Amino acid sequence: MSYAVKYILNGDIVVTVIDSLSVLNTAARLHGLTPLSSAVLNRIMTAGLFLSQDLKNDGDRLSVSVGGSGPFKKAVVASDKKGLIKGYILNTSAECPLKDGKLDIDAAVGKDGYISVVKDLGLKEPYSGNSRIVTGDIAADFALYFTLSEQKPSAVALGEYLSGGKIKAAGGIFVQPLPGANDFLITAVQDVLRNFTDTGRIFYQSKTSDEIMEKYFGAFEIKKADEYKPRFFCGCSEAKTRKIIRLLGRQEAEATIAEQGVIEANCSFCNKTYRFKADELGAIFD
Ligand SMILES: [Zn+2]
Repeated sequence: MSYAVKYILNGDIVVTVIDSLSVLNTAARLHGLTPLSSAVLNRIMTAGLFLSQDLKNDGDRLSVSVGGSGPFKKAVVASDKKGLIKGYILNTSAECPLKDGKLDIDAAVGKDGYISVVKDLGLKEPYSGNSRIVTGDIAADFALYFTLSEQKPSAVALGEYLSGGKIKAAGGIFVQPLPGANDFLITAVQDVLRNFTDTGRIFYQSKTSDEIMEKYFGAFEIKKADEYKPRFFCGCSEAKTRKIIRLLGRQEAEATIAEQGVIEANCSFCNKTYRFKADELGAIFD
């Protein structure tokens, strides 16, 4: 079961620990992902889960798109404030050779790319922020996004633990100082994170977020601030798909049926396909 837990260190610094393995496993099963493409999508989903903490109301939505020059091409994730997240990646079968026994995320993503974040907070205009992909490992790229686009200097560690060709653990740790935080404290906490060379292994070796916090941040005063269980969830349904077909118009729908015998609509986020035959058109348009 995935978890996301937010801690405050010494009243000044927010550390969020997100175990994303079950979210990753569901995404990999629904989309038929290779370990590498699931790792790329997982890193973006984990950053998305962290970003969705800014959402205030039930109806608020977050979406994150990441594109790169590497073989995976593009991924899109969407989440709400409860950590119900969905996502897809364009190239589901991306493969690159392992680098030092680890999945080569940098090569899969490529260096020339972008991060685009849209937060719909129910206001007139949604908030949107962008930044460029510089390293391709997603973690440093999101750290740069937080610092440059949201003016929140941050440290981000993301990773997977690979064993026997399978991802056995995955997660992310995010460090963000609260406004007015003590500078020495910020440096001390960010130093801890900079020493994380294998984030995936940290999640493999620790059963709970408390264990991770005690082990790596034990020198600080730790207070748990928030906790929730992220889950891969797509809200698409046959009824919603009927509405989309209605928007297409009867003429278009009838032409598709005449040509293909069926209207097929695939949901990008969960890969579910809805099929409608000629005898269902009456119920859709009448
Ligand atoms: Zn769906």
